[in-house]
Amino acid sequence: MHAEASVAAPPYSRANPFPAKLLVNRRLSGPDSAKDTRHFELDLAGWGLSFEVGDSLAVYATNDPQLVDEIIHALGATGEEEVPRPKGALTTLRQALLRDYSITQPTPKILRAIDLWGMEIVDFLSDHPSARFAPEEFVGLLSKLQPRLYSVASSLRAYPDQVHFIVDVVRYESNGRLRKGVCSSFLAERADDVPVPVFPSIAKHFHLPEDPDVPIIMVGPGTGVAPFRAYLQERGATGAKGKNWLFFGSQHQRCDFAYGEEFEAFKKEGLLTRLDCA
Ligand SMILES: Cc1cc2nc3c(=O)[nH]c(=O)nc-3n(C[C@H](O)[C@H](O)[C@H](O)COP(=O)(O)OP(=O)(O)OC[C@H]3O[C@@H](n4cnc5c(N)ncnc54)[C@H](O)[C@@H]3O)c2cc1C
Repeated sequence: MHAEASVAAPPYSRANPFPAKLLVNRRLSGPDSAKDTRHFELDLAGWGLSFEVGDSLAVYATNDPQLVDEIIHALGATGEEEVPRPKGALTTLRQALLRDYSITQPTPKILRAIDLWGMEIVDFLSDHPSARFAPEEFVGLLSKLQPRLYSVASSLRAYPDQVHFIVDVVRYESNGRLRKGVCSSFLAERADDVPVPVFPSIAKHFHLPEDPDVPIIMVGPGTGVAPFRAYLQERGATGAKGKNWLFFGSQHQRCDFAYGEEFEAFKKEGLLTRLDCA
């Protein structure tokens, strides 16, 4: 009789990122702000991985299903056609466009195939219904959908099993259409009820000084303040004695001042030695 081999849980990796759960999705910028800056909190319980303040996490977003539908329609396809994934295995056109390929910005291959300057892929397909691509030919022109990095804005010592992000949601108009950033709009609009695949991305040269007494000056305009919120939480949690000076810049302090109350509280506690808003 053979002893049953113990089956180890699959380790999380870039190819198999951890399915985090979105706990908080809160708008930070006020109603008068032109920006949509958001605070996200993700539950990492059970992931068995780690990060340090100063690191980022890669977020593996899926594409906007409405845009996927438009592209399938413009191709004259049903979405059920079999096409290769970037590494060759077959899937349906709909799944490939949702999960595997970048479907907004044209790739050099597409630019060589068609004149697409200033447009997104869907514009060309809608404007030129006669330019028909077979589904397999079409995905062959696309590049792989890449994860986006977000600086960790929280310390595991202050929030064990969580990561916080501060994200500017990308939305703009071009060619008369509202465009949405793939990952920031995934987090803001479509991640409440689906896993958010994440994996750490280490930034060795951006960690806090090892000596807790070393004073630090932090300059964090806009969402660039994210890693410094994590630094401050870490220094607070470890009782580090070094002085902490933060320069924070935003378009309009009144409406764009992310974490204003939190930083004022850090100042009162003496954790933040000096806070300058530019
Ligand atoms: C190490 C690192 C850390 C980062 N940390 C953060 C962070 O903490 N917070 C944060 O918000 N971001 C952060 N970023 C940026 C983040 O990774 C994404 O690039 C960003 O959120 C946009 O991704 P997206 O998928 O939403 O947009 P995409 O789908 O990638 O679209 C962005 C593209 O849209 C186009 N575009 C955007 N605005 C306009 C416009 N007005 N007019 C015309 N075209 C436009 C540009 O081509 C731009 O490249 C970080 C990046 C790195 C490398």
